[in-house]
Amino acid sequence: MTKKLSGYYQQAYAVSSKHFNQCFYCGCEATERDYCPPLHMLQSIVDLGEDAEFISIPACYECFALLHNERVLTIDARFIKVKKKITTKYAKALRIFHMWHESELDDMSDEFVHSIRAGMKLGAEAAERLAFQGYSYATEDASVTVREKRAEFDVQGKTFYDFKDALNYCINDLGVDRSEFYKLVVEDYNGDFNRALGQYRHRHDRVTAASDADTLIKSFAKQHKQNSDFVTRTVKHFINKDPSLTTEGALEQLYNNYIKK
Ligand SMILES: [Zn+2]
Repeated sequence: MTKKLSGYYQQAYAVSSKHFNQCFYCGCEATERDYCPPLHMLQSIVDLGEDAEFISIPACYECFALLHNERVLTIDARFIKVKKKITTKYAKALRIFHMWHESELDDMSDEFVHSIRAGMKLGAEAAERLAFQGYSYATEDASVTVREKRAEFDVQGKTFYDFKDALNYCINDLGVDRSEFYKLVVEDYNGDFNRALGQYRHRHDRVTAASDADTLIKSFAKQHKQNSDFVTRTVKHFINKDPSLTTEGALEQLYNNYIKK
């Protein structure tokens, strides 16, 4: 029965020999074939006349198992599906891998370091599998599906080829909070850095504006040897009188009116 059903499918193979025996979905060693759609769903899909690709493609055991009960009918959609499932399954390890640096482990207890290291290693493997973009494949009817994509992450027009590099850029250069932003970009926006940044800024807009003003006032007070309560009160007073004034503008007025000799 299975043999007859499998005749519905075109067998797909990697075009380039460097991908022979590699899982199409994650790049691990392929030991199975993923049937798109799964063999045990074929009868009902054919009966219902649903549109599917009917291709089988090399897969590792884990990707095969993750997709086994997924009624997902195209290779591209299965590719996206399995990445989501890997992300969920290894969420904790991925988080450790992306959040921790080896250098932070120095003062920790052995037991803790051991478990963080194990998480980092597992997370690194999962990240590598997630980044794998498949390969061009040919089917028996000689049609070739070209697939030469690289994972790309756009951060405000800057392109990164590695998720962790993009994340570190946001943390180190754009100043977002590491764990809060990680949660946004992974859980809420599925790797879309720009939407995650938009949401992050929306959330922090008022906080950032307020703390910026506070920083300006403090450094102004220090620089000009003024009491910072006095500076804060005067800035507020100027801004009340002229709401279009920025903190910088108010400080400038304060300087010109009261400090400059
Ligand atoms: Zn795989």
